[in-house]
Amino acid sequence: MNAAPLRDELCRIVGRAHVLEGRAELLPYATDANRMFRGLPLLVVCPADTGETAAVVEACRRAGVGFVPRGAGTGLSGGATPGDGEVVLSLARMRRILSVDPADRTAVVQPGVINAHLSREVAPLGLYYAPDPSSQSACTIGGNVAENSGGAHCLKYGVTTNHVLGLEVVLPDGRVVRTGRLGPPCHGYDLTGLFCGSEGTLGVVTAVCVRLLPRPRAVATALAMFRAVDAAAEAVEQITAAGEVPAALEMMDRNAMTAVERGRYPVGYPDDARAVLLVEFDGLRQGLDDQVEAAMAICRRCGVAEVRAAAGDAERALWWNNRKAAFAAMGAIARSYYVADGVIPRTALVAVLAEVGEISADARLWTANVFHAGDGNLHPLMAYDPTIPGEPERVLRAGSAMMAACVRAGGAVSGEHGVGLEKRDELYYLFDEQDMAVQRGVHDLFDPADRANPGKMYPLPGRCAEVRRAAWDPRATIGRPGAGSADPAGRRRADP
Ligand SMILES: Cc1cc2nc3c(=O)[nH]c(=O)nc-3n(C[C@H](O)[C@H](O)[C@H](O)COP(=O)(O)OP(=O)(O)OC[C@H]3O[C@@H](n4cnc5c(N)ncnc54)[C@H](O)[C@@H]3O)c2cc1C
Repeated sequence: MNAAPLRDELCRIVGRAHVLEGRAELLPYATDANRMFRGLPLLVVCPADTGETAAVVEACRRAGVGFVPRGAGTGLSGGATPGDGEVVLSLARMRRILSVDPADRTAVVQPGVINAHLSREVAPLGLYYAPDPSSQSACTIGGNVAENSGGAHCLKYGVTTNHVLGLEVVLPDGRVVRTGRLGPPCHGYDLTGLFCGSEGTLGVVTAVCVRLLPRPRAVATALAMFRAVDAAAEAVEQITAAGEVPAALEMMDRNAMTAVERGRYPVGYPDDARAVLLVEFDGLRQGLDDQVEAAMAICRRCGVAEVRAAAGDAERALWWNNRKAAFAAMGAIARSYYVADGVIPRTALVAVLAEVGEISADARLWTANVFHAGDGNLHPLMAYDPTIPGEPERVLRAGSAMMAACVRAGGAVSGEHGVGLEKRDELYYLFDEQDMAVQRGVHDLFDPADRANPGKMYPLPGRCAEVRRAAWDPRATIGRPGAGSADPAGRRRADP
C-alpha cells in the first residue's frame, strides 16, 4: 500500500521526529524477544500522550491499517511482532510516573514506565511494586498489563492483575475509557480485569493505577542443592503442602546451572548438583528464620546435598542476579535459544519434567530448565542454531509437545508469557471452537474490524480437531505439521 498519506497524517499528530520509516529504522521493530517470528511494519509511531495515541489509532482506523502496541519488546510469544503492513505504536515516550499517593499506597504511571524504575522511584517512601518479571530492568508496566506478567515473587504476592487497580485505554475506534480507580465508581463488569492479559487486542493501555506494597521488614534467602531433579521437585511439592508460603521458590537444573555459571554472576554451584532451589521468605524479622528452617528441614527429608543461607544483601543480590540472568546466559551456550512457557499443578512437577526431558531427547535438543517452581510455571530453554535448516521448526514442535504434556497433566499452555503468535494453535489443547467463539465474541465487541494487534491470541480457525487430537497423542504432537504454522498476515520465520 502507499504509506505516504498515513505517514503524513501521523507526522502531523506526533511530529516528524517520532515517526520511523525505511528498512533500517523499521528492522528493530520486526520481532520481539521471540526470534522465531518476524514481520516488517509499515511505520513505527511514538505518541507522547493519551491524546496523540487516540489520534494515531483513529488515523489507522480511517486508513484501514492494523496497529501493534509495543512496550520494550521483551515479550516471548511474538505479541509485539507486527504483520507486514501494520503500524507499530511504540509507548516508549510515555514513561512518566504521573502521581504517587503514599497514604493510599498507589501510583498512576504511563505505560512505558520500566517495571524496575517504578520500585526504584518509590523506594525512598518504603514502598515497591511487587510483580517482578525477570526482565524487569527492561520491560514496561504497559507490557506487563497486556501480558498479565508474573515473576519470581508472584508466588506469594500474585501476578500483575492483582496489583492493577485501574486503567486508561484507547479503544480500537479511538475512544478513551477509564476503568477501576481511574474511572467513575461503578459496579459493572470488571473491565480492568478484562484488559489485563488481553495482549493489546482490545486497545492501547495509556495509564495504569497500580497498588504499591510496603517493603518487607526482613528477607531471608537460602539455596538448596540436590543431586537429583526429582528430589528437588519433591521438595517444592512438600514445602507448599506443609503450608509454608515462600515469597519465591525458584528452580534450575544442571544445564541451567552450567549456563549461569558461565554468565556474569557465577555462584559456584557444586559440580555434582543436578538441581538447585532458590528459596526466599520475607515479612517480619521475628519467625523468619523458623520459616527458612522449616523449608530446609523438608529439603533435608527429600535428600538435599547442601544448603546455604545468604550471609547478607550482597550475597542475596548475587544469587538473584544469577537466577534472573539465566535466559541471557544461554547466549554462552548456543547461537540462539527458545523459551517454552507452560504451567502445571505442582504435584505433576516430577512427571512433567521427565516428559520434557524425553521430548528434548527425541528432538535431539539441549534443554535447560529454569523456572518459577512454586507456581508450577515451567520454562524449558531449548538451545538451537537458526542457521541449520529445519532446526527452528524442530524446536517449535518440541515446545508444542511440551505444552501438550502440561495440558495432559492438568495445566495450561502459558504461565506468563502469553499466547501472541506463538501459542495460537496450542489454545486448542485447552479449548474447543465453542470456547474460542465466546472469547472471540468479547473481542469483537471492542474490535470488530480486527485492527488492534491483529492475528494475535486467537487460533487460526478450522484447526481445532487436528490440534486437539495431537494434544492427547504425544507422538502425533512431535510430528505435528502445524507448530508455528504460516501466518496470513505475512509474519514468517526469522531469517537466520
Ligand atoms: C530475559 C527475559 C525474562 C523474562 N522473564 C519474565 C518473567 O519472569 N515473567 C513474565 O511474565 N515475563 C517474562 N518475560 C517476558 C516479558 O518480559 C513480559 O511479557 C513483559 O511483560 C513484556 O513487556 P514489554 O514492555 O517488553 O512488552 P512488549 O514485548 O513490547 O509487548 C508485549 C505484549 O503487550 C502488548 N502491549 C505492550 N504495551 C502495551 C500497551 N501499552 N497497551 C496494550 N498492549 C500493550 C503488545 O502488543 C504485546 O502483545 C521475560 C522476557 C525476557 C526476555
